[in-house]
Amino acid sequence: MRDPFNREIRSLGISITPHCNLKCFYCHREGHNCNSNSLMTPEEIGKIVKSTLKFGVKKIKISGGEPLLRPDLVDIIENISDIRIKDISLTTNGILLENYAEKLKNAGLNRVNVSMDTIDPVKYKNITYCGDIKIVKAGIERALDVGLTPLKINYLAMKNTIEDLDPLMDYCRDIDAILQIIEFIPLNENLKKYYVDITTIENEIAKKSDKVITRKLMQNRKKYYVDGLEVEFVRPMDNTEFCNNCTRIRLTYDGFLKPCLLREDNLIDVISPLRDGKNIDDLIYKAILNREPYFKGK
Ligand code: SAM
Repeated sequence: MRDPFNREIRSLGISITPHCNLKCFYCHREGHNCNSNSLMTPEEIGKIVKSTLKFGVKKIKISGGEPLLRPDLVDIIENISDIRIKDISLTTNGILLENYAEKLKNAGLNRVNVSMDTIDPVKYKNITYCGDIKIVKAGIERALDVGLTPLKINYLAMKNTIEDLDPLMDYCRDIDAILQIIEFIPLNENLKKYYVDITTIENEIAKKSDKVITRKLMQNRKKYYVDGLEVEFVRPMDNTEFCNNCTRIRLTYDGFLKPCLLREDNLIDVISPLRDGKNIDDLIYKAILNREPYFKGK
């Protein structure tokens, strides 16, 4: 199905918990900060996912909070798995990945994105408040061993992490991971001082790259190859292209469909009707009709 702006719906992002074991000072928590503790069960998540498949969803991204904090994550993935889904991925801080990786792979998870803004242990601890980079690296190695690939490292470009980019590129090249450079969304006035326009970084990488691919199905994002390393950019801020080519709807951990990452005022409750035994197809339809680009251009 296409929304009123002719954007096809292909992907569903699911936040499965608001809780996290790190305290990154900048975190947007996937744009949903309601205090409800009513988490969806694995079966409920599975049912909602199956309903979205009728509208064209083919890719599922699981996030949070920290998704690995859910003890029933394997069950969640088993409930999501469906022959019609081409890709199930998980975004994690990697702290609990080492022990979980194999079970997740066996349950049907295809790949992981691991968030890592620096490889400097002291700085990593400062940014995340309490994280140990050694544990994250062990998790990444295990994920690579069991085939949760292609594995992407999510690096958030901020004023205080720019100097960490080169060492992170070397690390990704060494372990054969893709580096995803994400533009920082400042959530409040105090955080604006960390904002960096990643166009400058993209131009630098473009100059160094041996090959460039434009990903038509991924918001026309470019993929660069620098000495064997794949580098991608995610640039949501003031980016009409990002919005014009957005194919993702989202599901909050407490069971609301969220048509746009950057808005909280048009959520649609699907969990209450589902718990009342009602069909939720018309609500999914309504959420898709409610979609509009956040950055529309001038
Ligand atoms: N806990 C998991 C993790 O650390 O990857 C999943 C949740 S986290 C919110 C998902 C991604 O959002 C991370 O890669 C993180 O870097 C990114 N993120 C968090 N806050 C952000 C912000 N203010 N601007 C842009 N990206 C942000």
